[in-house]
Amino acid sequence: MFLIAVFVTASTLAVVGNRVLRPLGRITGAIRAARRTGQRDYIDPDQPGEFGELVADYNATIAEQRAAEERGELLHHQAMHDPLTGLPNRSLFADRLDQALTRSRRYGERAAVLLLDVDRFKLFNDTYGHVAGDALLGAVGERLSGALRTSDTVARIGGDEFALIQPRVGSDAECLALADRVRRAMAAPFEPQQRRVTLGASVGVTVLPDDGDDRDTLLVNADLAMYRAKHDGGDRVRRFDPSMRADVVRQVELEGALHQALDTDQFELHYQPIVDLHDGRVCAFEALLRWQHPEWGLIPPAHFLPLVEQTAMIGPLGDWVLWRAAQDVGALQALAPACERVAVNVSAEQLALADADVLVARATRAAGVPAQALTLEITETAVLRSSPATIAGLERAAASGALIAIDDFGTGYSSLAQVQDLPGHVLKIDRRFVAALSESARSRDLFHAIVAMGHSLGMKVIAEGIETVAQLETVRACGCDAAQGFLFARPQALGALEAESAWLPPALAGAGH
Ligand code: C2E
Ligand code: CA
Ligand code: CA
Repeated sequence: MFLIAVFVTASTLAVVGNRVLRPLGRITGAIRAARRTGQRDYIDPDQPGEFGELVADYNATIAEQRAAEERGELLHHQAMHDPLTGLPNRSLFADRLDQALTRSRRYGERAAVLLLDVDRFKLFNDTYGHVAGDALLGAVGERLSGALRTSDTVARIGGDEFALIQPRVGSDAECLALADRVRRAMAAPFEPQQRRVTLGASVGVTVLPDDGDDRDTLLVNADLAMYRAKHDGGDRVRRFDPSMRADVVRQVELEGALHQALDTDQFELHYQPIVDLHDGRVCAFEALLRWQHPEWGLIPPAHFLPLVEQTAMIGPLGDWVLWRAAQDVGALQALAPACERVAVNVSAEQLALADADVLVARATRAAGVPAQALTLEITETAVLRSSPATIAGLERAAASGALIAIDDFGTGYSSLAQVQDLPGHVLKIDRRFVAALSESARSRDLFHAIVAMGHSLGMKVIAEGIETVAQLETVRACGCDAAQGFLFARPQALGALEAESAWLPPALAGAGH
């Protein structure tokens, strides 16, 4: 009856009530009458006459009532569960959290409340569509349920957000170990609809009663911890800490300021020369994004790009970078006559929003230059994770005349077989390998092997992060085609490059200029 009281509307309740109560009243009246007249067999429904009719009526009413109750239970289940995953929804989760809070108040029981956000879900959803995205969420729900104890609750409380309650936990270390088990369960690849994808999860952990003694406080704090896990790169667990509140206030300010930045022209590109090691001339420039904030000063990309990449803003900002770079090609060629192209970094998030060939076409058309003026730099990790549609877009961009460079090579750990399939013309060896050159003969052999591999695949090889003459000499001896680094020049605004005639340092002379 409780279920009905909650979920069946008042009018339905009145109808059900009347239909049950009225025949019951008639039966009891009839029984009393039967007793008075000495009739015994008063509840046989087969008996003709008033008793039989009444009992049949009563039975039918009870059957109807039961069906209504089941419908009510179904309604109740539907109201409390997420149809996609079959897991409890936000309302049921709130009930369970209230229960955990009550037990904590009464018996001092500790429980962990976890918020989990699926890493890279949006990218998957944008790439493969909602049907595949829904299948993936279903698989995530199953994976999470499998990783938990039977006493735990896992609920889907938003798009790709899940919440967990683990009752009766002991020390903080135990909570974190449980949370890490959940994270590890999410790290294994998923295969929804025959598409293999590795996601990862950002997990925020709060413990009650330590981190809050009411539902809202706990959820806000778990959200802050989850946000931090995401911000720190995802695929990790973070325990709530009160300092996170101040950080988020700053982050929100930063986000607000970023939106203004695009409208008020606060972004600029700095250019760093790439030097051809065969003839010592500048063969290209890499465009590097900077944010010139009116109060905070010059902000490097690492401080704001990850945030931009999490929002739709990466679309317009990425477009701006490509357009600005294409626009500046002429001026850069005037400074360095051997300069063929400007290299622009594009992120996976940007390519998930628009195909590479479309990006190139849009920017070069607007700037009035051919696609041959651009190189798209995409990190090895991003290429390895990209969908066939993204790769096809890169291939079309290459067919239109742009070059594709695999950036930060060596940090994505691709296998030889994968390297063969990368759609690149240029391999940029990550500066970590350059920095390691002086450490051992082995690092030098490794570097040499990477260069040889790039060449065997018909790629041009660029060494990044050259800071010393010794490094320059080694990478040249290893057969690198070009190099880039502070030894030659730091990234600078076009105006600064133009103003400073001697912007290429003497190191170039050593490189055969
Ligand atoms: P990246 O593509 O690997 O760019 C090279 C980074 O190394 C730049 O950092 C550059 O200033 C720095 N660098 C150059 N030479 C040296 C050197 O000799 N030593 C050392 N220690 N560093 C050197 P920056 O400008 O801070 O950019 C960081 C990253 O941000 C870039 O790494 C790139 O991944 C990303 N980025 C920059 N601009 C854009 C952009 O317009 N779009 C996108 N999607 N990403 C960008
Ligand atoms: Ca780059
Ligand atoms: Ca790089």
